[in-house]
Amino acid sequence: MPRRLCGLPILVVLAVLAPLASAATSPIPIALRLERLDAERGLSVSLRTRGDSDGRTTFANEDQWADVRDARRLIRDLRVEDESGRALSVNQDVSGWTVRNAPGQPLTVRYRIAPSGPSVLGAEPMAVHRPIVHAGMLHLVGHTALVLPTSARGSDTIAFEFDARAVADDAHFASSFGPGAHLATTPVQLATLRNSLFVGGAIHLSTLDTPDGKIGVALSAMAPGFDRRAFDADVRAVLGGVRAFYRDSQPWFLIGLHGATGGEEKGIRIGGGTGLQRAFTTYVAADYDLRDHDERGLMRWLLAHEYSHQWIGQTLRLSIQGDDRKEPRGYWFTEGFTEFFAVRVLTRAGLFDSAQALDAFNERILRYNLVKRRGLGADAAGDRFWSDPDAEQLLYRRGYLAAWQAELSLRRASDGRRGLDEVLRALILKARKQPAYRVDNTALIAAITAGMPAGDAAVFRRFVLDGGDSPLRAADFAPCLSGYVQRDGAMLDGRRFDVAPGTVLQYRRVDGAKADCFKH
Ligand SMILES: [Zn+2]
Repeated sequence: MPRRLCGLPILVVLAVLAPLASAATSPIPIALRLERLDAERGLSVSLRTRGDSDGRTTFANEDQWADVRDARRLIRDLRVEDESGRALSVNQDVSGWTVRNAPGQPLTVRYRIAPSGPSVLGAEPMAVHRPIVHAGMLHLVGHTALVLPTSARGSDTIAFEFDARAVADDAHFASSFGPGAHLATTPVQLATLRNSLFVGGAIHLSTLDTPDGKIGVALSAMAPGFDRRAFDADVRAVLGGVRAFYRDSQPWFLIGLHGATGGEEKGIRIGGGTGLQRAFTTYVAADYDLRDHDERGLMRWLLAHEYSHQWIGQTLRLSIQGDDRKEPRGYWFTEGFTEFFAVRVLTRAGLFDSAQALDAFNERILRYNLVKRRGLGADAAGDRFWSDPDAEQLLYRRGYLAAWQAELSLRRASDGRRGLDEVLRALILKARKQPAYRVDNTALIAAITAGMPAGDAAVFRRFVLDGGDSPLRAADFAPCLSGYVQRDGAMLDGRRFDVAPGTVLQYRRVDGAKADCFKH
């Protein structure tokens, strides 16, 4: 009797361990095929994989991702076939589409992604977050477009291959994996696959060869007059400048630029962008004009900001990253510091002149002061990020101002020898050496304030975590700039904003100071 009692649990443990062990060692096969692109029916997709070993497999795309809600309704006519092409009975509920299968049996999921219609500026959700299937082109992000087995975890290895040659040739397709319409089997983490971009069909694709890697530029739905040559030149210069700053290279990076309509009333020219696996994508007015000084500057800034996320956010990662709900609590850093370094890199690369750098600086101070609830701390503002535009502004602008306060304090304390560049590069280097390295707000604040006088460190910590008014003072940028107080409201983008008199500090060049004295 004792033998049986002791033996039984061991056998049970072994039986549970065996399939886990084999699942851990053998990658999950996923073969994606884009089969047909049709104006009426949208994009037909098939995805071949392996059924779960417990005989029950649930498939789903991410119903909610970024600001997209209800993405599941974009998936139409889903069916699942076994190896012989026989359709299995599918049960659909909130968890996705579920079938019964022989353990480990090959399964093929077939579905359509419904036509998206044209992209509209200022509409919710952001166009590039949802699958775009329109006018002979497709623009897909794994999160919302791929229906995958829900049993697979983000860290699981996938043996991934794709073939889009039925809808585009190699000259008209690119993805996070490189240029071209097909990919031979490649090991990739599931989280990486979900965060990948696929663009193809009626697009203009150029592949730029640079000394530190290839860059793909995929334009879709842009007006015929769009200056592609100027855009390619800016992409090359901005990405090169950012790579030089981080002393890094990347074998491949894809930039998607998608044209949209409808921003006229609200004056929106850029709808928003999103950083992805070796890619970022954005949508703008289809007639975006790079011959216009302001529009060109804004596009350069967007490229620099988004590409900087490859290091701030993708290389140096937050411990709360991946949790859409909590992640914004760290945005004072991943967004605010990205704002700071994007303008810095552009200025150093000669892509922003000193007047543009000063405008960018003043605008961010002003925008911070236009936020009513500046007393919201990092967590409270972060938790409101997706629902409250004020909270979004607050985190971006506060982080930017905090970066300046830290930069000034560190430089003062070291006679100009050490500033925020050195702090950030050290953090990034550590993250590159230790891929599992993660930072939280406490660790970030400790790293940034190390070397600051205690009083400055306390100001920084309080401003970041608890909020409050800008810590910058009028004399902080002497002898290049002097601060002055806005007397009667403030102008931004040609609009007048009421701010309480005497509350907003702005800066102007000191008479006699050289034009490039303020370097950002
Ligand atoms: Zn950003």
